[in-house]
Amino acid sequence: MAVTRHVGVVEDPRYHEHRAPPGHPECPERLRSVHEAIAEREGEIERIAARPAEDDELLLAHGLEHLARVRAAVARAPSRLDPDTYVCAESLATARLAAGAAIDLCRAVARGDLHGGFAAVRPPGHHAEPARAMGFCLFNNVAIAARALRSSERLDRILIVDWDVHHGNGTQALFEDDPSVLFFSTHQFPFYPGTGDAPEAGRGRGEGETVNVPLPAGCSDPEYVGVFQRLLVPVALRFRPEMILVSAGFDAHRADPLASMEVTASGFSAMASMVRALADELCGGRLAMVLEGGYAPESLVEGTRACMDALLHAETPPLPASVELVRGSNLGRVVDQVVSVHGRRNPRLGAS
Ligand SMILES: [Zn+2]
Repeated sequence: MAVTRHVGVVEDPRYHEHRAPPGHPECPERLRSVHEAIAEREGEIERIAARPAEDDELLLAHGLEHLARVRAAVARAPSRLDPDTYVCAESLATARLAAGAAIDLCRAVARGDLHGGFAAVRPPGHHAEPARAMGFCLFNNVAIAARALRSSERLDRILIVDWDVHHGNGTQALFEDDPSVLFFSTHQFPFYPGTGDAPEAGRGRGEGETVNVPLPAGCSDPEYVGVFQRLLVPVALRFRPEMILVSAGFDAHRADPLASMEVTASGFSAMASMVRALADELCGGRLAMVLEGGYAPESLVEGTRACMDALLHAETPPLPASVELVRGSNLGRVVDQVVSVHGRRNPRLGAS
């Protein structure tokens, strides 16, 4: 008989209080769509309370000046930290709740109190750099959680999978010289924020532990699934993480207004299932997903549903069929590109 899965979910009405200027895509209404998918699994999930992160927790990933700048912007709210990144009077409190939820959810999973979890937070985090808010992000929720796991839970190897359609420049900046955190990112390229080309592969002791998969516009399920099969799986098998964190953005969805990818519900389901399978195989199932982008109701509902399905699946979920690698196709080209950067340290890279 299958063991009951303990899957934690963070939702909190206070995440609606970071209010956007009219017409801004990163708006509180996004969470209604996320909630719709989570509510379908009510009764199967465990609710985790959102807690504000303390200054010392924010400082795990950011400098004092950054915190001071966010504070000052909020004091003169409504204002902006960059052309895209707005703040209102409640934004600092809301952003603390996003980081605090990511930390607590990840800790509960790391300690085995939960098998897995999903944090439906805003504002998102993966563009926030150590000293800079950008791209709708104030603090880097996933990076802060990873640093907290390193320090308080003594995890030595954490894999962050970022399938948001934008490159997670903030997460990369925080871990590019850190061999204990492997950052794997799929993203539209060239595109905002401009970083994330394949040769950006980490530096110093972290060289090789940043894996960027820059995809041309128009990629769909086969490209994403093929990339996960031929690049993510061998990278994870080599790295052997103790826990997997997902920067779960849903803006690669075909309905999304900000980017030009064509991923469907079944693509997100395949990606989430593959990450769950890796967690089961490599790290006792320890898997935490934190919301990043996603700007159409359909993207958010279908993406969140895929994550909930994968997290709640009683056994390791079934994996998608192997995607054929056609030389010269978008998939073939990006696999070749990543193999040319990372293949020497990972001979299985590119094989299915
Ligand atoms: Zn995004």
